[in-house]
Formats: sequence, structure tokens, C-alpha cells
Amino acid sequence: MESMLNSLRSIVQEVSAARDLPKVLAIIVSRVKRAMHTQVCSVYLRGPKGDYVLMATDGLQQQAVERVRLAPGQGLVGRVVAREEPVNVEDAESHPAFRYFPETGEEHFNSFLGVPIIHHRQVLGVLVVQQSERRRFDEGDEAFLVTMSAQLAGVIAHAEATGTMVAIGAAAVQARFVGVSGAPGIAIGESVVVAPLADLTGVPYQQCEDIEAELMFFQRCLSAVRNDIKALGVQLEERLNREERALFDAYLAMLDDAALGAEVVTKIRQGTCAPYAWSEVILEHENNFADMDDAYLRERATDVRDLGRRVLAYLQESNQSCKIYPDHTILIGDELTASMLGEVPENKLAGLVSVQGSGNSHVAILARAMGIPTVMGVVDLPHTRMDGRPVIVDGYKGTVYSNPGVQLRKQYQAVAKEEQKLVKGLEALRDLPCETLDKYRLPLWVNTGLMADVVRSLEHGAEGVGLYRTEVPFLLRDRFPTEEEQRLIYRDQLRAFAPHTVTMRTLDVGGDKALPYFPIEEDNPFLGWRGIRVTLDHPDIFLAQIRAMIRASIGLDNLRILLPMISSISELEQSKALIHRAYHELVEEGCEVNLPPIGVMIEVPAAVYQARELAARVDFLSVGSNDLTQYLLAVDRNNARVANQYQAFHPAVLRALQQVVHDGHTQGVSVGICGELAGDPGAAILLMAMGYDVLSMNATNLPKVKSVIRAITLAQAEALLDDVMPLVEAEQVCARIDQMLLEVGVNRVVRPLEVDA
Ligand code: PEP
Ligand code: MG
Repeated sequence: MESMLNSLRSIVQEVSAARDLPKVLAIIVSRVKRAMHTQVCSVYLRGPKGDYVLMATDGLQQQAVERVRLAPGQGLVGRVVAREEPVNVEDAESHPAFRYFPETGEEHFNSFLGVPIIHHRQVLGVLVVQQSERRRFDEGDEAFLVTMSAQLAGVIAHAEATGTMVAIGAAAVQARFVGVSGAPGIAIGESVVVAPLADLTGVPYQQCEDIEAELMFFQRCLSAVRNDIKALGVQLEERLNREERALFDAYLAMLDDAALGAEVVTKIRQGTCAPYAWSEVILEHENNFADMDDAYLRERATDVRDLGRRVLAYLQESNQSCKIYPDHTILIGDELTASMLGEVPENKLAGLVSVQGSGNSHVAILARAMGIPTVMGVVDLPHTRMDGRPVIVDGYKGTVYSNPGVQLRKQYQAVAKEEQKLVKGLEALRDLPCETLDKYRLPLWVNTGLMADVVRSLEHGAEGVGLYRTEVPFLLRDRFPTEEEQRLIYRDQLRAFAPHTVTMRTLDVGGDKALPYFPIEEDNPFLGWRGIRVTLDHPDIFLAQIRAMIRASIGLDNLRILLPMISSISELEQSKALIHRAYHELVEEGCEVNLPPIGVMIEVPAAVYQARELAARVDFLSVGSNDLTQYLLAVDRNNARVANQYQAFHPAVLRALQQVVHDGHTQGVSVGICGELAGDPGAAILLMAMGYDVLSMNATNLPKVKSVIRAITLAQAEALLDDVMPLVEAEQVCARIDQMLLEVGVNRVVRPLEVDA
């Protein structure tokens, strides 16, 4: 058992480090064959025509590779595909489904076990083992192969996609990758890949133009690391035993020109940039060590990796300063962060693509606020091979095209033009009130975080700020801002919107929002130390922020304070006590200022059930539907794998929303919503009918919501709400909303022309 688990782990590790499909498949067939003590292991993959092609084998004749093809249902392999489950037969030849291909030399092998390789519910291929003596593979074999296949499916899919990229090189062949929508809009531009520094597996592939200069640069970085290691060795000399000192010598030896260095030099000479060449060599060596039977040598894999990171840090650091962003930059990363966006000059940033994350990740919310078309969760995107390519981002559909052909490019240019026209049309609504045909007024506010949003919000006709995410300015720094620094930032916000209200939320970090200078490492960050839990444990941070907010509001008097992630009455009481303390201190210091209204966010199920008790103790409630949805449905808002299950229109969510507004109103407080749901035109109708007093959303969506509200009557909205509340599935709710919008003649997504790509 232990050894099976070890084989599994080491095969998966080795396969994951390989960088192209032929290597991936070669490792799989040889290692699985060895681990299972069989005579044949082969992989079949789905070809472009939907048939399954023998792509690699260890045991059958090599000439059969890429020649043997089976349609679903055809032969034993096709049977695995059609049934989507293992086929295990003792005597393959006598099986009615058997098909014989003379080029394989298969006639010697009687036993056959094939399991499907399934990725995203699709059969990507079939993994087969065969053996000459007539016996059934036992249950253990079957379980092993099924486990292997489940773990390898993602790696194979990724390698296939990367293969497309490598094969096409600079010569354009269009490829399409699917994710989820992060922010609507179309962007056409050139990709720039960003990766966390010193991450060996994430180094973007780049070609180098001046080979001699690259070689010199590489040697300089190597000698810098050599010096570091020598200096470290001297520093620690007293504290190290002989063995440990030997490690330093081993490091130095590895950096020797004849060792790792030489392999890298060869790759650079072939035109690969130094950071990528270095990471490739290191990953290969690390794997060789990790694969060794001897425990001491296996441990050396860690040393190779450590050394690899040290050199990579130098190689990347020196490259950083000269990073050039093209005019229409499409920023691509494994996991984009707010600060990565911050590094691109604003007028150059056209679109965003993130391999990780989903539509409700904070980076997507930020992108929506900034109006930058974004696609999230493109899990199969070979991002390290994407640097410098022409790319189209379709933020409506959640798709990304690399190397788009002339035809597609033209179609998307037309869409982008149409989009501009649409936006222009909506701009005309700016100074018109947000009211229904029968004159029911519904204030539309905005969510902000950056100063850039302020301008856009005012241009879009916002009547206030329902959520100012104070963590955004915190995220863009390398230390906590001081009280005075915060005061200045908050003052800008308050002044820009005065006399309209600005609702400032106290620091909401944790979950997927980590401050670089205040890391929180947890197994379950969304259920951990986040939001108010952090700031109540750090009254110093909380008090400084409250003081800064209140001081910023002097003379403007348009501040409201909002508390995130409240899950109990005592958290609210403690927060209020601190706010009162800060306020009284300021008054004692001579500030002439009013105590701002205080509200809580309803974003945890516990708060839904205590909305009445919370409302009795505050001035307003504001529903954070982004978190509320994730906690009600137990779906991580950030996880691309379950993005389809994150259903904002789930009947359970709608019921909670209705209950909160009802309970809040029984206590006479205003109830608003500041989650992304409020910015969906269809949802806005339901929320208005439920009685929400204010909807707060990203600036981009505000005109779209206004146009829809202005096209209907309150009675129509209430009828729609009556229709959807008894429905049991989110899809039914969406279908009913779409039908209604069609009847009144508006397009819910307010999306321009379709592209038939
Ligand atoms: C929410 O959870 O709905 C919300 C508005 O807060 P955030 O998205 O910043 O977590
Ligand atoms: Mg939240």
C-alpha cells in the first residue's frame, strides 16, 4: 500500500514537472508499466476528429503510434470511452469488441485493462495496460490505474494545450481557452505574463534575442549566488558541523560551469531566455533526485530546488526593472493579484486573464470597478508559454483566444465597436434619475476602492458610495499606512462624492485578500481569521483606521462606517465600543465632528438569522451577497472548479435576501446591498421588488442597471418576484428573468453582437 502510494506520488510529480506532451506521455507509459509490473502501457488521446489515437506506448510496436485510431464504441479502447468506466478483460482477443491492428504486435497480449482519462466531465483519453499471460488484472490494479488516471487528467490536458502553443511558435495558429467571466468587455492586445518571483514552475517562456548578452548576464547571476553562498558559509562556519559545511561545497560544485551551468548554457545558445532555461534544468534535476530510491539522495532534491530559487531570484530581479508593457497589455498570470495590476501603467492595461480564481475573486471585482475586460479560471491555459502573443479577451463569455486569425479579429473588432456605441448610449442616462416608469425611485450607488473608480463613478451618475473597500489602498503598499496617510486617502474619497454619502468599510483582510506585509497562512482562510475578527484582535489597527475616517470627514459629514464579516452580536458590540472610544477621543482632542452612522454587513448565514437583533443595534444594514452566497452554498467564491455551482440566483440565496430586508425594516433601518449581485440588471429588479432601499454596484454596471429599471414598472418587478420565489432551481429563476426582460425589450447582459467563434 505504502509503496503504491509512493509510486503514485512520484509518477505524478515527475509527470507534472515535464514540460511538453511527448515527455509527459513517455513518462506515464514507462513509469506506470514499471509500477504495475505489466508488459504494456499505452495512452490513447482524443484527436481533433473525435476518435482516439494511440499517442504513446511502452510495449507495443512504436510504429503503431499515431496510426491506431478508434472511434468511441470501437474496439476495447472505444468501449472504455463509450462507457466512461474501466474495461477489464482476461482474454482480449476473444472479446466481441476486440479490434486487431497488425502494426501493434498486440496479438501476444491477452489481458487488457483500460481506464478512461476524464477531465471536466469529458473523456480526454484512455490509459491501457496489457499482459501476455491470461489473467484478469485484480481489483488493486484497477484501483491503482483509476487513481493514476484521475490525477494525470489535468496534467495531460495542460500539456496538450501547451503543446499547441509550442508547436505553433510565433507562427499564428488560433487557439481558444475557456474560463469564466471576470469583468465584461472585449480586449484585443498583446500578452504580458507575470509570475511570482523565484517560482520555478511559473517562469514565462521567452526567447532571447542577444545570445551573447544573455550568456554574460547568466554568468553574472551565477557568480552573485556563488558569492552569497560563500558568504553564508563563512557566516555560519562556527555553527555548522562537517556534514553541513559539505553542503555548501556541494552547492558551489553544482553551480560549476561543468555541471548545471553547462546545460543551461546549451539551452540559451538555442535561443531560450536564461530564467526559463535555468528553471527547466533545475526542475529536471530536482526530479531525478526525487525519484531516487536512496533516502539521502532523495533529500537532495530540496537542495537543488533551493539553489534553483536563489539563482532564479537574481535572474528575475535584474529583469524586472526593464519590464516593458505594450500599449494594449493583456496581463496573464497563474494567480493575478491587485498589486500586479498596479504595476502596469493604467493607460496600457487592456485586459486580464487569470488561471486561478473565479468571477467573484477580489481581483475580478477590482477589474469590474476599473472596467477592464477579464477572464478568470482559465485552468488549462499554458500561461508560461503565452508571453508576447496576440490575444483576444472576451470578458462576456469568459473565453480567451491566442493568435487570433484575421477573421476572428475582424469579428471582435466589430463587437468592440458595437460595445462603444452601447456605452455611449448608456452615458446619455447619466443625469436622468433611476426610477421606474411609474416613478418609483431607487438610489444606485457605487462600490469603490481606487481613486480611478471615483472619476468613473461620477461619470456614470452614481448617487453615493455603498462600499468603499479600504483594504485596496492597504493592498497596494508594503506596510500598514499610518493614520495620517489613511486620513488623506479617505479625505479624497469623501470630498469627491460630497455631499453624497460614502460608506467606508473597516479593513477586510484574510480570505483571499492577503496583505503582502501581513501574511495569514491558514488551511481554511475563508472560515478563518478574516474581516472584523482580525481587526478586533488588533485594536491598534482598528482604532487608527476609525480615527482616520472620522478625521477625514470633518466639515463634510458624509461618512458612514460599515463592519465586515460580523457573525455575532458581541462582535458588533465590541466594534461599536471601539468606534465610540475613537470618536470621544477625537472630540476631546478638539475635533468638531459628528459620530457617523454605523452599519453591519450581512454576509454570513448567522447574520441572516440575527438580522433583526443586529438591525436593532445599528443605523443600517448592507448585504454582502458575494460572501453570503459562498457561505450559504458552501462554494468557494475563488475556486474555478466549482464556479458553476456559485449560483447567485440560487433560491436559498433569494430567500435569505428577502428575509434580511424584511427583518431590517421591522427595526426601521435602511437595508442596502453591495455585493456584485446588485449590479446584475435582472437581480436589480428582484432586489427593488423585495424592498431594498439602495443598490450599490461597480461603476461599469450602473448605467446598465439604470436602463433596465427605467424600462419597467414597480408592479412588473413585484410580479416577477412573485413568479420566481416559488421556483426551485437557479436556472429556472434566470430563465424567468430573461423571459421578462425580453418582453419589455431589454437584454439582461447588455452584451453586444455575438461572435461565432
Ligand atoms: C461581499 O462579500 O458581498 C462584499 C461586498 O464584500 P467583498 O466582496 O469585498 O468580500
Ligand atoms: Mg465580503
